[in-house]
Formats: sequence, C-alpha cells, structure tokens
Amino acid sequence: VRHHQVVIVGGGTAGISVAARLRRAGVGDIALVEPSEQHYYQPLWTLVGGGQATAAETVRPEEKLIPKGVTWLRDRATGVDPDNRTVPLAGGGTVAYDHLVMAPGLQLDFDAVPGLAESAGRRGVSSNYRFDLAPLTWDFIRDVRRGTAIFTMPAGPIKCGGAPQKIAYLAADWWRRQGLSERIRIILVLPTATIFSQPEWAKVLTGVAANYGIEVRYDSQLVGVDGEGRRAVILDSAAGTEETLDYELLHAVPPQSAPDWLKGGPLADPASPFGYLAVDQYTLQSTRWPEIFALGDVANLPTSKTGAAIRKQAPVVATNLLAARRGELLPARYDGYTSCPLVTAHNRMLLAEFDYQLTPKPSFPLIDTMKPRYDMWLLKRYGLPAMYWYGMLRGLA
Ligand code: FAD
Repeated sequence: VRHHQVVIVGGGTAGISVAARLRRAGVGDIALVEPSEQHYYQPLWTLVGGGQATAAETVRPEEKLIPKGVTWLRDRATGVDPDNRTVPLAGGGTVAYDHLVMAPGLQLDFDAVPGLAESAGRRGVSSNYRFDLAPLTWDFIRDVRRGTAIFTMPAGPIKCGGAPQKIAYLAADWWRRQGLSERIRIILVLPTATIFSQPEWAKVLTGVAANYGIEVRYDSQLVGVDGEGRRAVILDSAAGTEETLDYELLHAVPPQSAPDWLKGGPLADPASPFGYLAVDQYTLQSTRWPEIFALGDVANLPTSKTGAAIRKQAPVVATNLLAARRGELLPARYDGYTSCPLVTAHNRMLLAEFDYQLTPKPSFPLIDTMKPRYDMWLLKRYGLPAMYWYGMLRGLA
C-alpha cells in the first residue's frame, strides 16, 4: 500500500483543476489516479457535431496537463474504502490517503436504451457525447436531404443539459441554409415539461425552436432503436403512449449515471437514484467522511453538471481541503453556479448562467446574453477553449 497526502481520483476537468490549485498552494504530495492517456475538452464536441470544429482540437495528452510534481498513477480506481482511507486499484495495488478528492466523472449508459449501443455510429445514428461519434454527427447531418431527424435527451441528470438541443439548432440552421427546411421534419424529444430548467432562458429557447419549425415533444424519451430499420420508439410518459417513428437521422444522448463501481457504495447518496456521491452542496465535503471531497459530474449537486460549474467548484474544494488539513473550519462555499452556452445557429449563442436558486448570474453584466449573439458564439468557439487549456487546467481561472 502506497500512501499520499492527497489522492485525486480522475484527471478530467475537475481532477486537473483541483490538482493545479493544490500544487499552487504548496501541497507537496499529491497522487492522481487516471487510467486514460488522453484528456478531452468535451464542450467543443457540440461544435464538432455541427461541423464547426475538429475532433483533434478537443484532445490533448493527459501527461502534458498533469501539474508538475503530481504523481500520476496510471490506473483505474475500483472503489473507495473510506473507513480505512484507501482506494483499491484495478492493477492490484491500493493507495492510501489523508485527504481524497473524487472526480471520476459520470458514466454513459448507451445500453439502457434497447438497440442504441449497437446502432451508434451507423446508418444515421450518432451522439456528440462520444469523441469517436461526434464527427459522424456532422457526416450524417449533411447526408439528410429529406425525411425525419430526431434529437433526444434522456431522463435524469446529465452533463450539459443544453447539449441535446444545441445540436438540433445547428442541424436546423444548416438545413435551412441548404434550402431543405420544408423537406425535413425535425423532432426534439425532451423528458421534461419545459425546454430548459431556468424559466427565463426557457422562454427564449422555446422561441428559437419554434422559429426553426422544430416539433418539441415534452415528457418524452427514446426507449428503443431499430438501427437496421431506421426506426425509433418514443415514449410519451404524460400520455402513457409509445410511437414508432422512421428517421433519417437520430442524435441520441444516452442516459447517464454514476460509475458502476461507485453506485451503491459507501460514498453514494442514497437520495440519488443514479448513484451520485453525497456531498454538502456548499462545502463539497462528504456528508460522512470529512477527509473526502467530491466535485464535477460525479457529485450529487442540485445544479446542472457542466465544466463551467467545475470552474467555480474547484477553488472551493481546494480552499476547503487546505483548511481541513490545518484542522480549521471550511471557509469556502459553492453557490450552485452553472452555465450553459446555448449555440442557436452557426454564428449565434446565448449564455445561460444561474445558481442553485436559478437566479441569473451573468459574467458579463453589461451584455444581454438572453439574446442569441455573435460575440458569445466567438466566446464559445475560441475564448472558452483557450480559457480551459491555459487558465482553468493550470489553476489560474
Ligand atoms: P470528466 O471531465 O469526464 O473526467 C473524468 C475523468 O475520470 C476522465 O479523465 C476519466 O478517464 C477518469 N476516470 C474514469 N473512470 C475512472 C476510474 N475508475 N479511476 C480513475 N479515473 C477515472 N460543459 C460546459 O461547461 N459547457 C458546455 O458547453 C458543455 N458542453 C458539453 C457538450 C457535450 C457533448 C458533453 C459530453 C459535455 C459538455 N459539457 C459542457 C460538460 C463537461 O464536459 C463536463 O461537465 C465536465 O467535463 C465534467 O468534468 P469531470 O472532471 O467531472 O469529468
């Protein structure tokens, strides 16, 4: 059993951001458990699927992003033993900690929809939620000349709740510019009763969808795919009816949940049907073990799971973990800030930013980000990726 003062599980957006901040604060002995050689900037996958960015731009070697002085354990965690303060690893070893930061992200459950896993990537079925599939979305969008295009969002918390509809707008905008609007029926399938969680932006987005002539199905979900026959089954849970639709294109966002190796374990929140981890929603400290913190997609927080949320969570975890090491009260609070850059056309975006109370939290108070704007699209395409690689992952932004 090897021991480190701080062990971080997961070297994605959250893990690297916290590691960088702890290093800057002078923590000498940090180990990062991360099996992947690659690190992905997932927010750009929407634009890859929309033909506006390349997949290559979204990936960098993990090795280059791990802060200097942090020990990289290139292995997979298989659980946590909080009473013994250890993390078992797939390679057979065990790592012990004084303090633990859980940041392994979430799991995509393609298998949860019958037929979806087998169909993904073939005959018009794609998903921007996977690096290998996002470029195919754009191929499939360009293939459609007539018929029905279906865009679906699963029930339950997912990362970037806006992404299932953003790609519908990018596709609709493309088809409109090709003069194909009249020939293509676009259906957006949403599990919720409204188009977006925050009511003011919901109003704007309802207008955006209507303007494209998109048929929005509320309280509905994808429950089956016949990839060979190009048919999708949509359940309307309010009406209790199922409808089978022929499609030319199906963009499916898979159901999502906590990684299986954490579900039902000691850190999982019994109140979360998806197995996400229990932490205090303000301090991000485990509700049972004070030496454990969790952030990012794996944490059961009543806000939308985004990288933008992690940008505000990482400093809170770093500050509170340092205080915990000194035996002091935790001084930092996360207010639930999250943000969703909603791309509405090839050159337009609106920026939804809000907190636990769904109160708008504008980063640019002088700009009306409730209107689709070109400057905000530039921010999404160029500004935010640069801020991510050079600011956030270095603990500077
Ligand atoms: P991740 O970044 O997913 O990292 C998890 C890490 O844990 C990975 O490196 C993984 O290899 C590692 N790991 C997995 N299993 C183990 C294990 N057993 N042991 C150790 N390590 C493990 N956010 C925004 O802010 N704005 C957007 O516009 C936006 N758009 C999005 C569009 C799409 C299509 C997608 C998919 C996401 C989008 N997001 C957006 C969400 C954002 O990317 C995520 O919320 C964010 O990356 C979550 O960070 P994380 O560190 O929790 O998880």
